[in-house]
Amino acid sequence: MPAIILRVALPSPLRRLFDYLAPPGMAAGDFTPGMRLRVPFGRREMIGVLVEVGDSSDVPEGKLRPASSRLDNESPLPPSLLALCLWTAQYYQHSLGDTLSWALPVLLRQGEPAQARQERYWIAAPNARPEDPRLKNAPRQREALATLAQHPHGVAHSQLTPLQLAKNTLESLLAKGMAAVETRTQRPPQRHEHWLAQPQLPLNPEQQAAYQAVHAGLGRYHCFLLAGVTGSGKTEVYLQLIHDTLRAGKQALVLIPEINLGPQTFARFAQRFNARIALLHSAVNDRERLEAWLSARDGDADIIIGTRSALFTPMKRPGLIIIDEEHDSSYKQQEGLRYHARDLAIVRARQENVPILLGSATPSLESWHNAYNGRYGLLHLQQRAGLAQPPRYLRLDVKSRPLDSGISPPLQQAIGQTLEQGHQVLVFLNRRGFAPTLLCHECGWLSECPRCDARTTVHQRSGELRCHHCGHVEIKPRACPKCRSVDLRPVGAGTERAEERLQVLFPQYPVLRVDRDSTARKQAMEALLATVNRGEPCILVGTQMLAKGHHFPRVTLVAILDADGGLFSADFRAPERMAQLIVQVAGRAGRAENPGRVIIQSHLADHPLLVQLTEQGYFAFADQALSDRRSASLPPFTHLALLRAEAHKPGQAEGFLDQACALAEQWLQQHGGEGVEMLGPVPAPMERRAGRYRAQLLVQAPARASLHRLLAAWMLQLEQLPSGRAVRWSLDVDPVDLF
Ligand code: ADP
Ligand code: ZN
Ligand code: ZN
Repeated sequence: MPAIILRVALPSPLRRLFDYLAPPGMAAGDFTPGMRLRVPFGRREMIGVLVEVGDSSDVPEGKLRPASSRLDNESPLPPSLLALCLWTAQYYQHSLGDTLSWALPVLLRQGEPAQARQERYWIAAPNARPEDPRLKNAPRQREALATLAQHPHGVAHSQLTPLQLAKNTLESLLAKGMAAVETRTQRPPQRHEHWLAQPQLPLNPEQQAAYQAVHAGLGRYHCFLLAGVTGSGKTEVYLQLIHDTLRAGKQALVLIPEINLGPQTFARFAQRFNARIALLHSAVNDRERLEAWLSARDGDADIIIGTRSALFTPMKRPGLIIIDEEHDSSYKQQEGLRYHARDLAIVRARQENVPILLGSATPSLESWHNAYNGRYGLLHLQQRAGLAQPPRYLRLDVKSRPLDSGISPPLQQAIGQTLEQGHQVLVFLNRRGFAPTLLCHECGWLSECPRCDARTTVHQRSGELRCHHCGHVEIKPRACPKCRSVDLRPVGAGTERAEERLQVLFPQYPVLRVDRDSTARKQAMEALLATVNRGEPCILVGTQMLAKGHHFPRVTLVAILDADGGLFSADFRAPERMAQLIVQVAGRAGRAENPGRVIIQSHLADHPLLVQLTEQGYFAFADQALSDRRSASLPPFTHLALLRAEAHKPGQAEGFLDQACALAEQWLQQHGGEGVEMLGPVPAPMERRAGRYRAQLLVQAPARASLHRLLAAWMLQLEQLPSGRAVRWSLDVDPVDLF
């Protein structure tokens, strides 16, 4: 009898599978790829995923060990998901076992059963009516009953919070016999005529054209880019396409960027549809994540909404994939498996043969390029939906003007005027804390992080100096550590300082700060948003957390305090990122009937990119930026991979990269380089970070195929390299951040 060899992916960085014998008494037919196995590994046990069943192994017979047990009777992963993981591991040159660890819910990796648990459902009693006199003085119960009535199959207990239903309100209804609770495993099948819980908006002609194009493509793979200015009603287009998908009995997967906007976006979908929605974002716990994953896999969820990793959610009846804000950098994972969820979603759409829609007001240059060369269908929304007008831009040259905590006198005037008119103001500054550094006026000492090549930020409120790169914190000194002078001055302005100054300048109006520090407490963001939504004049000061997706109808002035960073940076993507940020922040202005104004302070107010962006808009900017990329042979016209290394001792990382570079050049000589170039190694732009010395080596290639041929051979060589043991190294295919 031939041996049964189980080839297993284990959570290990090594780019290989591990061979095991079948447990005694089991036959080849007992195994299908995707099943989880418990196997001995060294002196421990591990849980791995079966990838192949074979009858021979390179490992000598006597050395093979049997797997301990099989955790599943059938594969918990559908074959399409396993195929996607295989593709991902191959493309990003990452270990398959580790890829699966990133792709699967934590509890599955820990061996939990891959079956849905029972859940409680709240249901309106058949003849309960919100107008019932018993609810006359109970407005919350009336509202709750109305919400329940919109969901004839009931509302799962886990969905109460997103639907803004309180448990004690429902319990009061239960006590009155006006609501009931059921416990069941599977949610019942949907009745397809009842998908809409709320009427659809009539589409304007541009929306209609975009909708029609995708609608005509339902049922097969095609990638569309929906390039629609902020407020043009992209979400309404998504919603109507999702409705079609549901009516066809299929599921829709919606990816959203990683911001604390999850609940808000979710509410828009939950209010529109009487559908089962599975939510997968960073705030859901491991149990909820597993349940959501299972419900999507089993076809018990109709709409799956989530951030980056939700891309790996299996679907029983896939019908449509939507990537909202496709340009957002949170779709790229910056650690471990460095995948790009948008790019993988396109691969997945192709594998599952479903359409995919990428939406953004500020498309990435990669997607813009693909729309131009015809790979994606380009759908344009140039006008704001409804009555809203596009914002007007003003570039304010601050070269020779005094800056008062970052705010120039003309800007102060404009803010004052806006508030007096009863409107709201948004002040954007992409730097949290009080000031970017502390300076000794006597001797020139600057506060620096002891572990990084970086300045520490002054946090006045907490009296600390903090490093935003490694998390180092120290008490703010009273005297200069070098010369003992007490004349220490914060230099430059962060959100804390702008907030403090605006409070002094406009004492009669509330100033609300929105950044990672002010929203760290749970619900802090909700409280801030609630204040803004009351609509009274106020000033919002914040970082890019303010830039994304929010709808502030009363904001008519957006001020961008400093647009210069993106024009100076050494990173070739900096101008693209700056333009996206400006347009997204500007998009918060004038989203209702009052037109909006955007004032951009800059020392380079006449910079051609800034002029083009503000006068002709993002799409014209993108054309220009793409042609610059073409002449410089930068992505998307070439392809990059970045090998990073870091070590405790100076020189170690470069030593490793030197050897790596030599190996690559040797390989290229032997196998034909096809224009692949090795750039470096060089020290990283921030050479020391969190106490480690960092260096990098960039590989640039005119074609993806030649790049990947090199990478595949090279990674196996690097795994063997002894100098690699003393350093931490990683490969980043299609890096977004070159730092
Ligand atoms: P985007 O996602 O493109 O920024 P939204 O979908 O948030 O835009 O739409 C902006 C505003 O316009 C929302 O308040 C939305 O309700 C409204 N809106 C969208 N489509 C229409 C339409 N066809 N008619 C009227 N209002 C619309
Ligand atoms: Zn000093
Ligand atoms: Zn640091």
